[in-house]
Amino acid sequence: MTETNETILSLKHIQKAFGEHQVLRDISLDINKGEIATIIGPSGGGKSTTLRCINLLEEPTAGEVIFHGENVLEPNYNRNIYRAKVGMVFQQFDLFENKNVLANCMVGQELVLKHSKEEARQVALANLKKVGMEQYINARPSQLSGGQQQRVAIARAISMDPEILLFDEPTSALDPEMVGEVLSVMQNLATTGLTMIIVTHEMAFARDISDQIFFISDGVIAEQGNPDQLFNHPQNEKTAKFLSNFQ
Ligand code: ADP
Ligand code: MG
Repeated sequence: MTETNETILSLKHIQKAFGEHQVLRDISLDINKGEIATIIGPSGGGKSTTLRCINLLEEPTAGEVIFHGENVLEPNYNRNIYRAKVGMVFQQFDLFENKNVLANCMVGQELVLKHSKEEARQVALANLKKVGMEQYINARPSQLSGGQQQRVAIARAISMDPEILLFDEPTSALDPEMVGEVLSVMQNLATTGLTMIIVTHEMAFARDISDQIFFISDGVIAEQGNPDQLFNHPQNEKTAKFLSNFQ
């Protein structure tokens, strides 16, 4: 963990409604550069929607998303640049099945970052090595295990050189024996200075890796703090009850 005191991202009073359904009621948080933040909480509480409002896969219905001091929701803000700086790793990997592992990690660099083929190839190879997948560069996603696919998805995401990487339950779709290899790749990434915001149900991992933990329930941050505060001294009854399911 190489956290600094520079706030890189803030959500200010974010709300998100789908029709009548107010899913996010009031989400405010600050993330420092290099920080590892995790979001925990019950299913349906708004964790994914919060991540999707951060990377603008969803448009918040109210509030501000501040990146390096600027509100990215302002009409004249260049969202394309912002989107390239905020990566996301999904539960279902979402690799391109018609491309091999190496090409999966090159295509975004070429199309979005305008990297040359050779540059994209070098970056992709270096990152595939980081996640222990360099010997599979010619494989198609369907030939890999879930854990291997997720490691490729992480290599693809970091090949875009994001400032912030979001993870939405990256191990929830995996067979239990593959969870460890993905968490261990994430642990290594966390030491590189990358800012990470992770939604997870892996409580031991969250406790281990986090600088800050947010407990989201019913569309609000019901509690936040460092791992010791959340796990050993929860102040909110809902947090305590939620955590007791994992003991
Ligand atoms: P979590 O990730 O904590 O399980 P979500 O953010 O996925 O929760 O969902 C919170 C609530 O928002 C759920 O009730 C869900 O059904 C609803 N929701 C999420 N996305 C949409 C959508 N695109 N349209 C309508 N309702 C949605
Ligand atoms: Mg979710």
